[in-house]
Amino acid sequence: MKYVSTRGSAPVLGFSDVVLAGLATDGGLYVPETWPSMPAVSSGSYAELAANIFSPFIEGDIDNATMLRLAQDAYATFRHPDVVPIVDLEPGHSIMELFHGPTLAFKDVALQLLGRLFDHILTARNEKVTIVGATSGDTGSAAIDGVKNCKNIDIVILYPAGRVSDVQRRQMTTVDSPNVRTVAIEGTFDDCQDLVKAMFNHAEFREAQNLSAVNSINWARVMAQVVYYFEATRRINGPIDITVPTGNFGNVLSGWIAKNMGAPIRHLVVASNQNDILTRFFESHSMTVTGVHPTLSPSMDIQVSSNFERLLFEMNNRDGAMTAQQLQRFRDRGALAVEQDQFDQWIAPTFRAARASDHDTLATIRSVYESTGMLIDPHTAVGVKAAREFAEDGVPMLTLATAHPAKFPDAVERATGERPQLPAHLADLFDRPERTTQLPNDLATVEAFVANR
Ligand SMILES: *Cc1c(COP(=O)(O)O)cnc(C)c1O
Repeated sequence: MKYVSTRGSAPVLGFSDVVLAGLATDGGLYVPETWPSMPAVSSGSYAELAANIFSPFIEGDIDNATMLRLAQDAYATFRHPDVVPIVDLEPGHSIMELFHGPTLAFKDVALQLLGRLFDHILTARNEKVTIVGATSGDTGSAAIDGVKNCKNIDIVILYPAGRVSDVQRRQMTTVDSPNVRTVAIEGTFDDCQDLVKAMFNHAEFREAQNLSAVNSINWARVMAQVVYYFEATRRINGPIDITVPTGNFGNVLSGWIAKNMGAPIRHLVVASNQNDILTRFFESHSMTVTGVHPTLSPSMDIQVSSNFERLLFEMNNRDGAMTAQQLQRFRDRGALAVEQDQFDQWIAPTFRAARASDHDTLATIRSVYESTGMLIDPHTAVGVKAAREFAEDGVPMLTLATAHPAKFPDAVERATGERPQLPAHLADLFDRPERTTQLPNDLATVEAFVANR
Protein backbone atom coordinates (compact mmCIF):
# COMPACT_ATOMS: atom_id res chain seq x y z
CA MET A 1 0.00 0.00 0.00
CA LYS A 2 1.26 3.46 -0.91
CA TYR A 3 0.14 6.75 0.61
CA VAL A 4 -0.44 10.10 -1.09
CA SER A 5 -0.67 13.59 0.39
CA THR A 6 -3.99 15.47 0.39
CA ARG A 7 -2.10 18.45 -1.09
CA GLY A 8 -0.69 16.45 -3.97
CA SER A 9 2.96 17.49 -4.03
CA ALA A 10 4.72 15.45 -1.32
CA PRO A 11 6.48 12.18 -2.14
CA VAL A 12 4.37 9.00 -2.24
CA LEU A 13 5.42 6.87 0.76
CA GLY A 14 4.91 3.42 2.28
CA PHE A 15 3.24 2.82 5.64
CA SER A 16 6.30 3.02 7.92
CA ASP A 17 7.53 6.28 6.39
CA VAL A 18 4.04 7.75 6.72
CA VAL A 19 3.88 6.79 10.41
CA LEU A 20 7.23 8.42 11.17
CA ALA A 21 6.55 11.50 9.02
CA GLY A 22 3.13 12.44 10.47
CA LEU A 23 2.57 15.54 8.34
CA ALA A 24 3.53 15.41 4.63
CA THR A 25 6.27 17.77 3.39
CA ASP A 26 3.69 19.84 1.43
CA GLY A 27 1.74 20.43 4.65
CA GLY A 28 -0.89 17.84 3.67
CA LEU A 29 -2.08 14.66 5.39
CA TYR A 30 -1.31 11.18 4.12
CA VAL A 31 -4.12 8.91 2.89
CA PRO A 32 -3.95 5.44 1.31
CA GLU A 33 -3.82 5.44 -2.49
CA THR A 34 -7.00 3.34 -2.53
CA TRP A 35 -9.56 2.41 0.13
CA PRO A 36 -9.58 -1.37 0.61
CA SER A 37 -12.84 -3.17 1.30
CA MET A 38 -13.14 -5.38 4.32
CA PRO A 39 -14.98 -8.70 4.29
CA ALA A 40 -17.36 -9.14 7.26
CA VAL A 41 -15.48 -10.52 10.29
CA SER A 42 -17.41 -12.11 13.07
CA SER A 43 -15.03 -14.07 15.25
CA GLY A 44 -11.71 -13.42 16.95
CA SER A 45 -10.42 -11.11 19.66
CA TYR A 46 -10.32 -7.33 19.36
CA ALA A 47 -6.58 -7.50 18.55
CA GLU A 48 -7.23 -10.11 15.86
CA LEU A 49 -9.93 -7.92 14.34
CA ALA A 50 -7.47 -5.01 14.42
CA ALA A 51 -4.72 -6.99 12.67
CA ASN A 52 -7.24 -8.07 9.99
CA ILE A 53 -8.31 -4.50 9.32
CA PHE A 54 -4.71 -3.20 9.30
CA SER A 55 -3.49 -5.87 6.90
CA PRO A 56 -4.22 -4.05 3.58
CA PHE A 57 -2.90 -0.76 5.02
CA ILE A 58 0.50 -2.15 6.06
CA GLU A 59 0.97 -4.42 3.05
CA GLY A 60 4.55 -4.47 1.79
CA ASP A 61 5.84 -2.83 4.96
CA ILE A 62 5.03 -4.74 8.14
CA ASP A 63 4.04 -8.40 8.21
CA ASN A 64 0.69 -9.44 9.66
CA ALA A 65 2.16 -11.60 12.45
CA THR A 66 4.19 -8.65 13.75
CA MET A 67 1.17 -6.37 13.55
CA LEU A 68 -0.95 -8.87 15.47
CA ARG A 69 1.69 -9.02 18.22
CA LEU A 70 1.81 -5.20 18.46
CA ALA A 71 -2.00 -5.02 18.61
CA GLN A 72 -2.14 -7.75 21.28
CA ASP A 73 0.43 -5.88 23.39
CA ALA A 74 -1.37 -2.55 22.92
CA TYR A 75 -4.83 -3.81 23.87
CA ALA A 76 -3.58 -5.94 26.78
CA THR A 77 -3.19 -2.58 28.58
CA PHE A 78 -6.98 -2.13 28.57
CA ARG A 79 -8.72 -3.10 31.79
CA HIS A 80 -11.83 -4.65 30.23
CA PRO A 81 -11.80 -8.10 28.55
CA ASP A 82 -13.88 -6.69 25.65
CA VAL A 83 -11.36 -3.79 25.33
CA VAL A 84 -14.22 -1.46 24.24
CA PRO A 85 -17.36 -2.81 25.97
CA ILE A 86 -20.87 -1.81 24.92
CA VAL A 87 -23.45 -0.97 27.61
CA ASP A 88 -27.17 -0.24 27.21
CA LEU A 89 -28.25 3.32 27.89
CA GLU A 90 -31.94 3.43 26.93
CA PRO A 91 -34.11 1.50 24.44
CA GLY A 92 -32.38 1.46 21.04
CA HIS A 93 -29.42 3.48 22.32
CA SER A 94 -26.18 2.08 23.73
CA ILE A 95 -22.74 3.40 24.60
CA MET A 96 -19.36 2.04 23.58
CA GLU A 97 -16.87 2.70 26.37
CA LEU A 98 -13.59 3.65 24.74
CA PHE A 99 -12.00 4.73 28.03
CA HIS A 100 -10.69 1.51 29.59
CA GLY A 101 -7.11 2.22 28.52
CA PRO A 102 -4.35 3.40 30.88
CA THR A 103 -5.17 7.14 30.80
CA LEU A 104 -9.00 6.90 30.70
CA ALA A 105 -9.65 8.54 27.32
CA PHE A 106 -10.26 7.13 23.86
CA LYS A 107 -6.89 8.45 22.68
CA ASP A 108 -5.31 5.39 24.34
CA VAL A 109 -6.84 3.18 21.62
CA ALA A 110 -4.63 4.85 19.02
CA LEU A 111 -1.63 5.88 21.10
CA GLN A 112 -0.98 2.51 22.77
CA LEU A 113 -0.63 1.10 19.27
CA LEU A 114 1.25 4.06 17.80
CA GLY A 115 4.00 3.96 20.47
CA ARG A 116 4.62 0.29 19.77
CA LEU A 117 4.56 0.85 16.01
CA PHE A 118 7.08 3.68 16.26
CA ASP A 119 9.39 1.57 18.41
CA HIS A 120 9.15 -1.39 16.03
CA ILE A 121 9.92 0.73 12.96
CA LEU A 122 12.75 2.60 14.71
CA THR A 123 14.35 -0.64 15.96
CA ALA A 124 14.33 -2.04 12.43
CA ARG A 125 16.01 1.14 11.17
CA ASN A 126 18.34 1.51 14.12
CA GLU A 127 17.12 5.06 14.75
CA LYS A 128 16.00 7.06 17.76
CA VAL A 129 13.60 10.00 17.91
CA THR A 130 12.54 12.68 20.36
CA ILE A 131 8.81 13.26 20.36
CA VAL A 132 7.82 16.76 21.41
CA GLY A 133 4.22 17.73 21.86
CA ALA A 134 1.93 20.29 23.44
CA THR A 135 -1.15 19.26 25.35
CA SER A 136 -4.18 20.88 26.90
CA GLY A 137 -4.87 17.65 28.76
CA ASP A 138 -5.76 14.27 27.29
CA THR A 139 -3.28 13.87 24.45
CA GLY A 140 -0.17 14.39 26.58
CA SER A 141 -0.90 11.66 29.10
CA ALA A 142 -2.03 9.21 26.40
CA ALA A 143 1.11 9.88 24.33
CA ILE A 144 3.37 9.50 27.38
CA ASP A 145 1.75 6.25 28.40
CA GLY A 146 1.98 4.94 24.85
CA VAL A 147 5.77 5.39 24.67
CA LYS A 148 6.92 5.09 28.30
CA ASN A 149 8.44 1.64 27.70
CA CYS A 150 9.84 2.34 24.23
CA LYS A 151 13.60 2.02 23.88
CA ASN A 152 14.01 4.25 20.84
CA ILE A 153 11.80 7.16 21.84
CA ASP A 154 12.25 10.03 24.25
CA ILE A 155 9.22 12.21 24.83
CA VAL A 156 8.93 15.80 26.06
CA ILE A 157 5.42 17.14 26.63
CA LEU A 158 4.70 20.83 27.23
CA TYR A 159 1.54 21.84 29.11
CA PRO A 160 0.32 25.24 30.28
CA ALA A 161 1.23 25.66 33.98
CA GLY A 162 -1.87 25.82 36.16
CA ARG A 163 -4.22 25.35 33.21
CA VAL A 164 -4.71 21.59 33.07
CA SER A 165 -6.79 19.67 35.60
CA ASP A 166 -5.07 17.99 38.57
CA VAL A 167 -5.95 14.53 37.25
CA GLN A 168 -4.61 15.36 33.80
CA ARG A 169 -1.38 16.88 35.16
CA ARG A 170 -0.71 14.03 37.55
CA GLN A 171 -1.31 11.45 34.82
CA MET A 172 1.65 13.04 33.03
CA THR A 173 3.96 14.06 35.86
CA THR A 174 3.80 10.85 37.90
CA VAL A 175 5.06 8.57 35.12
CA ASP A 176 8.44 7.34 36.32
CA SER A 177 10.27 6.43 33.10
CA PRO A 178 13.72 7.66 32.12
CA ASN A 179 12.54 8.60 28.60
CA VAL A 180 9.69 10.87 29.78
CA ARG A 181 9.92 14.60 30.56
CA THR A 182 7.07 16.99 31.25
CA VAL A 183 7.41 20.77 31.18
CA ALA A 184 5.01 23.27 32.74
CA ILE A 185 5.19 26.34 30.51
CA GLU A 186 4.43 29.72 32.06
CA GLY A 187 1.78 30.52 29.46
CA THR A 188 -1.29 29.22 27.65
CA PHE A 189 -1.89 26.10 25.58
CA ASP A 190 -1.41 28.24 22.45
CA ASP A 191 2.02 29.29 23.77
CA CYS A 192 2.91 25.61 24.21
CA GLN A 193 1.78 24.85 20.66
CA ASP A 194 3.74 27.80 19.30
CA LEU A 195 6.89 26.59 21.10
CA VAL A 196 6.48 23.12 19.57
CA LYS A 197 5.91 24.59 16.09
CA ALA A 198 8.97 26.81 16.51
CA MET A 199 11.12 23.81 17.48
CA PHE A 200 9.96 21.94 14.36
CA ASN A 201 10.61 25.02 12.18
CA HIS A 202 14.13 25.36 13.58
CA ALA A 203 15.72 22.99 11.04
CA GLU A 204 19.09 22.66 12.77
CA PHE A 205 17.49 21.84 16.13
CA ARG A 206 14.95 19.49 14.58
CA GLU A 207 17.67 17.48 12.87
CA ALA A 208 20.04 17.45 15.85
CA GLN A 209 17.25 16.13 18.13
CA ASN A 210 15.58 14.00 15.44
CA LEU A 211 12.24 15.52 16.43
CA SER A 212 9.02 13.66 15.78
CA ALA A 213 5.33 14.11 16.62
CA VAL A 214 2.31 11.94 17.35
CA ASN A 215 -0.43 14.42 16.34
CA SER A 216 -4.03 13.42 15.76
CA ILE A 217 -3.33 13.78 12.03
CA ASN A 218 -0.92 10.80 12.14
CA TRP A 219 -2.33 8.19 9.78
CA ALA A 220 -1.74 5.30 12.20
CA ARG A 221 -3.95 6.97 14.81
CA VAL A 222 -6.81 7.30 12.33
CA MET A 223 -6.27 3.69 11.22
CA ALA A 224 -6.28 2.33 14.79
CA GLN A 225 -9.64 4.00 15.44
CA VAL A 226 -11.30 2.32 12.44
CA VAL A 227 -11.29 -0.96 14.39
CA TYR A 228 -13.89 -0.11 17.03
CA TYR A 229 -16.39 0.93 14.35
CA PHE A 230 -16.13 -2.58 12.90
CA GLU A 231 -16.26 -3.99 16.42
CA ALA A 232 -19.53 -2.09 17.00
CA THR A 233 -21.10 -3.53 13.85
CA ARG A 234 -20.12 -7.09 14.71
CA ARG A 235 -21.72 -6.75 18.15
CA ILE A 236 -24.91 -4.88 17.14
CA ASN A 237 -26.90 -6.01 14.12
CA GLY A 238 -26.63 -3.23 11.57
CA PRO A 239 -27.09 -0.98 9.84
CA ILE A 240 -26.49 1.25 12.86
CA ASP A 241 -26.06 4.96 13.54
CA ILE A 242 -23.02 6.09 15.50
CA THR A 243 -22.63 9.39 17.35
CA VAL A 244 -19.13 10.75 17.86
CA PRO A 245 -18.12 13.57 20.23
CA THR A 246 -15.85 15.50 17.90
CA GLY A 247 -13.01 18.02 17.98
CA ASN A 248 -10.37 17.53 15.30
CA PHE A 249 -12.60 15.21 13.25
CA GLY A 250 -10.09 12.36 13.73
CA ASN A 251 -12.40 9.93 15.46
CA VAL A 252 -15.38 10.48 13.15
CA LEU A 253 -13.15 10.33 10.07
CA SER A 254 -12.22 6.81 11.18
CA GLY A 255 -15.95 6.03 11.22
CA TRP A 256 -16.29 7.32 7.67
CA ILE A 257 -13.38 5.08 6.62
CA ALA A 258 -15.02 2.05 8.27
CA LYS A 259 -18.25 2.77 6.41
CA ASN A 260 -16.32 3.23 3.18
CA MET A 261 -14.65 -0.16 3.74
CA GLY A 262 -18.05 -1.82 4.08
CA ALA A 263 -19.03 -1.64 7.77
CA PRO A 264 -22.86 -1.52 8.02
CA ILE A 265 -23.06 2.04 9.35
CA ARG A 266 -25.88 4.34 8.22
CA HIS A 267 -25.37 7.77 9.77
CA LEU A 268 -22.44 9.27 11.62
CA VAL A 269 -23.64 11.99 13.97
CA VAL A 270 -20.97 14.64 14.52
CA ALA A 271 -21.45 16.05 18.03
CA SER A 272 -19.79 19.37 18.90
CA ASN A 273 -19.79 21.55 21.98
CA GLN A 274 -20.02 25.34 21.69
CA ASN A 275 -16.98 25.18 19.38
CA ASP A 276 -19.22 24.12 16.53
CA ILE A 277 -17.33 24.88 13.30
CA LEU A 278 -18.35 21.45 11.97
CA THR A 279 -22.02 21.75 12.90
CA ARG A 280 -22.15 25.16 11.23
CA PHE A 281 -20.46 23.67 8.17
CA PHE A 282 -23.00 20.87 7.90
CA GLU A 283 -25.81 23.43 8.23
CA SER A 284 -24.48 26.10 5.88
CA HIS A 285 -22.05 24.21 3.55
CA SER A 286 -19.44 26.75 4.51
CA MET A 287 -16.63 26.48 7.06
CA THR A 288 -15.88 29.71 8.90
CA VAL A 289 -13.40 30.30 11.70
CA THR A 290 -14.38 31.97 14.98
CA GLY A 291 -12.60 32.14 18.35
CA VAL A 292 -12.20 29.19 20.73
CA HIS A 293 -14.49 29.13 23.78
CA PRO A 294 -13.49 27.13 26.85
CA THR A 295 -16.20 24.58 27.70
CA LEU A 296 -16.86 21.71 30.11
CA SER A 297 -15.62 19.33 27.36
CA PRO A 298 -12.15 20.85 26.87
CA SER A 299 -10.79 18.10 24.59
CA MET A 300 -13.27 19.27 21.96
CA ASP A 301 -12.39 22.98 22.25
CA ILE A 302 -10.92 23.45 18.79
CA GLN A 303 -10.91 26.24 16.25
CA VAL A 304 -10.34 24.19 13.08
CA SER A 305 -10.82 20.43 12.68
CA SER A 306 -7.51 19.41 11.12
CA ASN A 307 -8.53 15.90 10.02
CA PHE A 308 -11.40 17.26 7.94
CA GLU A 309 -8.80 17.81 5.22
CA ARG A 310 -8.84 14.08 4.47
CA LEU A 311 -12.58 14.15 3.71
CA LEU A 312 -12.21 17.36 1.73
CA PHE A 313 -9.63 15.61 -0.48
CA GLU A 314 -12.21 12.90 -1.25
CA MET A 315 -14.88 15.53 -1.89
CA ASN A 316 -12.49 17.07 -4.45
CA ASN A 317 -12.18 13.69 -6.20
CA ARG A 318 -8.66 13.38 -4.78
CA ASP A 319 -7.39 16.48 -6.54
CA GLY A 320 -4.48 17.51 -4.29
CA ALA A 321 -3.72 20.80 -6.07
CA MET A 322 -7.34 21.88 -5.73
CA THR A 323 -7.41 20.87 -2.05
CA ALA A 324 -4.21 22.83 -1.39
CA GLN A 325 -5.64 25.94 -3.07
CA GLN A 326 -8.89 25.72 -1.16
CA LEU A 327 -7.00 25.40 2.14
CA GLN A 328 -4.76 28.34 1.27
CA ARG A 329 -7.87 30.48 0.69
CA PHE A 330 -9.28 29.15 3.96
CA ARG A 331 -6.15 30.30 5.80
CA ASP A 332 -6.21 33.70 4.06
CA ARG A 333 -9.91 34.46 4.44
CA GLY A 334 -11.07 32.21 7.27
CA ALA A 335 -13.83 30.67 5.12
CA LEU A 336 -14.22 27.60 2.91
CA ALA A 337 -17.33 26.69 0.94
CA VAL A 338 -18.16 23.45 -0.91
CA GLU A 339 -20.45 23.01 -3.93
CA GLN A 340 -23.98 21.65 -3.59
CA ASP A 341 -23.13 18.51 -5.60
CA GLN A 342 -20.14 17.77 -3.35
CA PHE A 343 -22.37 18.17 -0.33
CA ASP A 344 -25.09 15.95 -1.80
CA GLN A 345 -22.64 13.21 -2.70
CA TRP A 346 -20.35 13.12 0.34
CA ILE A 347 -22.05 14.75 3.31
CA ALA A 348 -25.82 14.42 3.11
CA PRO A 349 -26.08 10.60 2.85
CA THR A 350 -23.78 9.96 5.83
CA PHE A 351 -23.33 12.84 8.23
CA ARG A 352 -25.66 14.45 10.72
CA ALA A 353 -24.47 17.19 13.06
CA ALA A 354 -25.55 18.68 16.36
CA ARG A 355 -24.18 20.87 19.11
CA ALA A 356 -24.50 20.96 22.88
CA SER A 357 -23.99 23.97 25.16
CA ASP A 358 -22.48 23.55 28.63
CA HIS A 359 -26.02 23.78 29.96
CA ASP A 360 -27.11 20.89 27.68
CA THR A 361 -24.02 18.94 28.76
CA LEU A 362 -24.84 19.22 32.46
CA ALA A 363 -28.54 18.47 31.85
CA THR A 364 -27.60 15.34 29.88
CA ILE A 365 -25.17 14.07 32.54
CA ARG A 366 -27.96 14.59 35.10
CA SER A 367 -30.68 12.91 33.02
CA VAL A 368 -28.52 9.84 32.33
CA TYR A 369 -27.69 9.59 36.03
CA GLU A 370 -31.33 9.93 37.05
CA SER A 371 -32.62 7.33 34.61
CA THR A 372 -29.79 4.74 34.81
CA GLY A 373 -27.52 5.57 37.76
CA MET A 374 -24.64 5.77 35.29
CA LEU A 375 -22.11 8.61 35.44
CA ILE A 376 -20.95 9.86 32.03
CA ASP A 377 -18.22 12.40 31.31
CA PRO A 378 -18.97 15.78 29.67
CA HIS A 379 -17.60 14.76 26.22
CA THR A 380 -19.76 11.66 26.18
CA ALA A 381 -22.71 13.81 27.29
CA VAL A 382 -22.29 16.05 24.24
CA GLY A 383 -22.58 12.85 22.20
CA VAL A 384 -25.62 11.51 24.07
CA LYS A 385 -27.46 14.81 23.60
CA ALA A 386 -26.83 14.69 19.83
CA ALA A 387 -27.69 10.98 19.59
CA ARG A 388 -31.04 11.56 21.25
CA GLU A 389 -31.81 14.24 18.66
CA PHE A 390 -31.17 11.90 15.74
CA ALA A 391 -32.22 8.49 17.07
CA GLU A 392 -34.79 6.77 14.84
CA ASP A 393 -37.01 3.81 15.65
CA GLY A 394 -35.66 0.58 14.18
CA VAL A 395 -32.07 1.78 13.72
CA PRO A 396 -29.81 1.03 16.68
CA MET A 397 -27.94 4.12 17.90
CA LEU A 398 -24.49 3.85 19.48
CA THR A 399 -22.73 6.78 21.18
CA LEU A 400 -18.97 6.63 21.62
CA ALA A 401 -17.97 7.36 25.24
CA THR A 402 -14.62 9.10 24.85
CA ALA A 403 -13.56 9.64 28.47
CA HIS A 404 -14.04 8.08 31.90
CA PRO A 405 -16.18 10.29 34.17
CA ALA A 406 -13.40 10.42 36.80
CA LYS A 407 -11.24 12.30 34.32
CA PHE A 408 -13.64 15.26 34.58
CA PRO A 409 -14.96 14.88 38.13
CA ASP A 410 -15.90 18.53 38.72
CA ALA A 411 -18.43 18.73 35.88
CA VAL A 412 -19.89 15.34 36.76
CA GLU A 413 -20.24 16.29 40.42
CA ARG A 414 -21.80 19.63 39.48
CA ALA A 415 -24.43 17.84 37.41
CA THR A 416 -25.22 14.92 39.72
CA GLY A 417 -23.88 15.68 43.21
CA GLU A 418 -21.86 12.49 42.91
CA ARG A 419 -18.05 12.55 42.56
CA PRO A 420 -16.85 9.77 40.24
CA GLN A 421 -14.02 7.60 41.59
CA LEU A 422 -10.80 6.84 39.74
CA PRO A 423 -10.43 3.18 38.77
CA ALA A 424 -8.18 1.00 40.94
CA HIS A 425 -5.01 1.37 38.84
CA LEU A 426 -5.12 5.14 39.42
CA ALA A 427 -6.57 5.16 42.94
CA ASP A 428 -3.25 6.36 44.42
CA LEU A 429 -2.66 8.98 41.69
CA PHE A 430 -2.76 11.79 44.24
CA ASP A 431 -0.15 10.10 46.45
CA ARG A 432 2.43 9.53 43.72
CA PRO A 433 5.42 11.89 43.49
CA GLU A 434 5.31 14.36 40.58
CA ARG A 435 8.27 15.05 38.32
CA THR A 436 8.03 18.17 36.20
CA THR A 437 10.06 21.25 35.30
CA GLN A 438 8.56 24.73 35.11
CA LEU A 439 10.03 26.93 32.35
CA PRO A 440 9.28 30.40 31.00
CA ASN A 441 7.57 30.79 27.63
CA ASP A 442 10.91 31.18 25.86
CA LEU A 443 12.09 29.14 22.88
CA ALA A 444 15.83 29.17 23.67
CA THR A 445 15.21 28.01 27.26
CA VAL A 446 12.90 25.20 26.16
CA GLU A 447 15.23 24.06 23.38
CA ALA A 448 18.12 23.97 25.86
CA PHE A 449 16.01 21.83 28.20
CA VAL A 450 15.12 19.40 25.40
CA ALA A 451 18.76 19.18 24.25
CA ASN A 452 20.17 18.65 27.75
CA ARG A 453 17.45 16.38 29.15
C1 LIG B 1 -9.60 14.13 21.84
C2 LIG B 1 -10.94 13.92 22.44
C3 LIG B 1 -12.12 14.11 21.69
C4 LIG B 1 -12.11 14.62 20.26
O1 LIG B 1 -11.60 13.69 19.37
P1 LIG B 1 -11.25 14.10 17.86
O2 LIG B 1 -10.59 12.93 17.26
O3 LIG B 1 -10.31 15.29 17.99
O4 LIG B 1 -12.51 14.48 17.19
C5 LIG B 1 -13.33 13.84 22.32
N1 LIG B 1 -13.39 13.43 23.60
C6 LIG B 1 -12.27 13.25 24.35
C7 LIG B 1 -12.42 12.81 25.76
C8 LIG B 1 -11.01 13.47 23.80
O5 LIG B 1 -9.91 13.29 24.56
